[in-house]
Formats: sequence, C-alpha cells, structure tokens
Amino acid sequence: MQTQTLERLESNVRTYSRSFPVVFTKARNARLTDENGREYIDFLAGAGTLNYGHNNPHLKQALLDYLDSDGIVHGLDFWTAAKRDYLETLEEVILKPRGLEYKVHLPGPTGTNAVEAAIRLARVAQGRHNIVTFTNGFHGVTMGALATTGNRKFREATGGIPLQGSAFMPYDGYLGEADSLDYFEKLLGDNSSGLDLPAAVIVETVQGEGGINVAGLDWLKRLESICRDHGILLIVDDIQAGCGRTGKFFSFEHAGIKPDIVTNSKSLSGFGLPFAHVLMRPELDKWKPGQYNGTFRGFNLAFATAAAAMRHYWKDDTFERDVQRKGRVVEDRFQKIAAWMSEQGVKATERGRGLMRGIDVGDGDLADKITAKAFEKGLVIETSGQAGEVVKCLCPLTIPDEDLLAGLDILEQSVKEVVA
Ligand SMILES: *Cc1c(COP(=O)(O)O)cnc(C)c1O
Repeated sequence: MQTQTLERLESNVRTYSRSFPVVFTKARNARLTDENGREYIDFLAGAGTLNYGHNNPHLKQALLDYLDSDGIVHGLDFWTAAKRDYLETLEEVILKPRGLEYKVHLPGPTGTNAVEAAIRLARVAQGRHNIVTFTNGFHGVTMGALATTGNRKFREATGGIPLQGSAFMPYDGYLGEADSLDYFEKLLGDNSSGLDLPAAVIVETVQGEGGINVAGLDWLKRLESICRDHGILLIVDDIQAGCGRTGKFFSFEHAGIKPDIVTNSKSLSGFGLPFAHVLMRPELDKWKPGQYNGTFRGFNLAFATAAAAMRHYWKDDTFERDVQRKGRVVEDRFQKIAAWMSEQGVKATERGRGLMRGIDVGDGDLADKITAKAFEKGLVIETSGQAGEVVKCLCPLTIPDEDLLAGLDILEQSVKEVVA
C-alpha cells in the first residue's frame, strides 16, 4: 500500500489514519475495503456520521436522481424545491409525531457551526452571555463552541487566546453518588456563588467524545425544570446522539423533555454529506436577516438524502425498535466482556444507550492496545473519554446481525489476547 505521499503531504494534525494506517477505497453498509482488497467491519462509522451505513442504497438513489435531474447543488440560502421538501419532511415525519414545534436555522455544514449558531442565538435571544456546559462535554472546536468543550487537548490549541463565556458544571455521575444538579441549583440560588445567570445550558444526553457518559433520564428531567424555573434556555447538542443512535430519533425523547434549542449534524444528511441544522422554539427566532452568515448554508444534496432517510427509516417505529434490539445485543456482550476483564483483575464497566455504547477499561493505553489488536483482526473501532479509556461501539444502525456479531467476536477475542 502506497502511503508515502499521504505521510509527506498531509499535516501532522491528522488523527484517525494513525490508528488505521491503510488506504481505504470502498465501503458498503458496515464494511470498509482497503487498497489490498481486505475488508473490515466498521464500528466507528464516521464517529456516528454513518448511522445508515456507507453508501446506503436508498439514499444513494435519491442523490443520483437529484443530480441526474440537474437539481440545484449550491444556492447560498436560496429557496429550493429540495429545501422545501426537507423542511416539510422534517415537520411531517419527525417533529409533528413527537409533538415538537421548531423553526429551522441552517448554518454552515459542520457540527461546530450548529453549536456556534445555537449558543449565539441563545445569547441574542436572552441578552446575556453565560453558557453553562458540563464536564467532559464536547461541542466542537471553533472558538465559541470550544469554550463549551472540556477536553484540555483541544482547549490548549488556541495558542493562548482565552476561551470565554462559559461555565462548567459536573455532568451526571461526575461526583459519584451525589446528584450533580444539587450543586448547579445551589449556585443558581446563591447571589454570591459567582455564577453569572446563564443564557443557556448546553448538554449531550450521552457524551460521545467524553466517554459514553450517560445522563440519567431523571437527571435530564430535573435539568429541564431547573432551566424553566430560572429562565435559562436548554440546548441539547444531539449531533452525535441524535438521528437514531440511542434508539430514538432525538436522544432526549427517552427523557420526555422538550429542549428550547437542538443541534443536529453528523448523521443528519444520512449519507455522510456535511450538513447541520439548529432547531429552535419559534419564539426564539430573534435573528435579523443575514445576521448569521455563511456561504454553505444548507447543502442541497444533503437536503435530498436527509429527506430520503427520514422517509425511509422514520415513517413508523420499525427501525427504532430494531436499533434498540441491536443495542441490547451489544450491551449484553459488552457486559460479558467487562465482567471477564474484571475477573482477570482489570476493572472494567459497560455503559451506553441504544447503539451508543462503550466499555470503560480504566486506562487509555490498554484501550489503545485492544483497538489496535481489533484492527489487526479486521475491526475498525475507536476509543473516547478524557484519557481515551473507553472502547466505544458506534456501528451503523443498519449493520446486518452477522456483521454485528462478527465484530463483537473480534472485539472479545482482542480483549482476551491483550488482557491474558
Ligand atoms: C462531533 C460533535 C460536534 C462537532 O461537530 P463537527 O462536525 O466535528 O464540528 C459537536 N457536538 C457533538 C456532541 C459532537 O459529537
């Protein structure tokens, strides 16, 4: 495999190609193929961007049909038939059946764009600056979003420019048995706590990059009611946990809460095309025309594939029930692997929701050894968490059972060889 040009010309900033140093050529659903024709099972799936698998045939057909008809590809934020179809489908298939009413802001195409837009909207709408975010939260790496991201590695990459406008609270479970919201509520009620009244709280219901930390459903409900009591907007960053990953279209549905603002990206286009949106309660739409700008606002090809994904997978609950079933398969196996490790004297725990799951092996080096061994055996799987100590499964939701089981077998075998 020829990798010299890649190593010579691509910046040192590259990451995933270090864990998986092969040249990929093709992919279909949960399988990747490299230049030598070797196949891999994909438990990374674009870090949650390929929920419907690589080159999903339904979505590919919608894309090809759209291109074939000379549909508008770029139109700034022109009205297009594709945009109208996207918005109508979102309303009919996703929002209305869930009793949600939102207006849609189409910012630039990445997750961090959506987070920037969401927190800026919250500030504009509320007329104050402070955004409460949580330990281990990950919300993107542009300056505004980075200020709400916990990880020191990313925070240190500003060259010393201070990150401002946010305050960190302990996420659910961060303080062990204590309810971390007691602390937040106490600060809010104390005029001398030093916490400026927040414009908004931004939260992931399951922290993806932060280590598959799962917020309890009661914790999320209480967070919502604290926000309501204090006139704070609740932003759910559903960029990774959304689009079915946890077994519901929106991850917050499990808790029965209604955020004021929601961000989606990663799997929103369904096809791996760059695409993001911000959903807001209609009254919050305080933007003046053009006040938040960008050349790529809403990507028409993504409108076509995203609408096709909603129509194909979300018309009824068949797909979400299947995701929940597969989630239980992974949960069960991960529990067994964690129990086996613990018997060997390596304390390990399983956690997650739906098909967003991880095994915390307590040590980043050990997790790296396990994922490297798995890659040798044909499984692409990554780690997350503050020290990379969580081996995480983000396989396509559409993964065939045989690939799911084969991937789990490889992981189990890799753990056994590394820990033995
Ligand atoms: C990936 C991610 C982002 C950032 O998205 P980018 O497209 O990488 O900018 C923000 N929030 C969450 C929860 C994410 O997982």
